[in-house]
Amino acid sequence: TAKFAGKKGTSSERTFIMIKPDGVTRGLVGDIISRFEKRGYKLVAIKSLVPSRQLAEQHYADLSTRPFFKGLVNYITSGKAPVVAMVWEGKDVIRQGRIMIGATNPLDAAPGTIRNTYSISIGRNIIHGSDSFDTAEQEIGLWFGKPGELASWEPANWNWIMAEN
Ligand code: UDP
Ligand code: MG
Repeated sequence: TAKFAGKKGTSSERTFIMIKPDGVTRGLVGDIISRFEKRGYKLVAIKSLVPSRQLAEQHYADLSTRPFFKGLVNYITSGKAPVVAMVWEGKDVIRQGRIMIGATNPLDAAPGTIRNTYSISIGRNIIHGSDSFDTAEQEIGLWFGKPGELASWEPANWNWIMAEN
């Protein structure tokens, strides 16, 4: 069990999802939250903010040598629109979140995914999601690492969603 990302492979697994400024300015926040809610995932943290340069650079640290890094950080931090940062919890949520989001290049994203439905440019692909248990742990800690930022709670329908027999 990790400090932030719950227990891998269980219904306590958690992932970091962020609607990027293009998703916010285009009015997609409600639809995206709705998709995770309706699927049966649990919202444990949410905030809207314009990230500092330092936060954006840390979040994308593994891409710092890539040619698009500066443009990516500029776009996330521009303040033309905030980001909406969230933590979602539930069974297989890290992998399922990536599937719901779709391929990095929206032109390769499967029909029905968030990126396929709403975008056509790799540089404006609407949304971020953690790509592994370790990155989920890192990213949740980075964005929601202060005590009390993650809610532990049980939705009234949790047992119905989780039942396997
Ligand atoms: N990105 C970009 N150009 C590229 C590759 C990535 O602008 O050629 C941006 C894009 O916004 C992407 C983000 O960098 O979502 C992070 O890249 P990563 O490979 O981690 O893709 P993701 O995990 O978001 O699918
Ligand atoms: Mg990534």
